[in-house]
Amino acid sequence: MLINVLEFFRNLPKKKCQECGQDINEQADCYINICTECDHPAR
Ligand SMILES: [Zn+2]
Repeated sequence: MLINVLEFFRNLPKKKCQECGQDINEQADCYINICTECDHPAR
């Protein structure tokens, strides 16, 4: 059972920013799909 869970997380694709496409290192904001760079409300 535990192995299946670990496999599940291992098979998860790396989160990438939807804006610039670079890898996201943020682990806390699981619901965010953009990097901190693009997360700035620059508009
Ligand atoms: Zn970005």
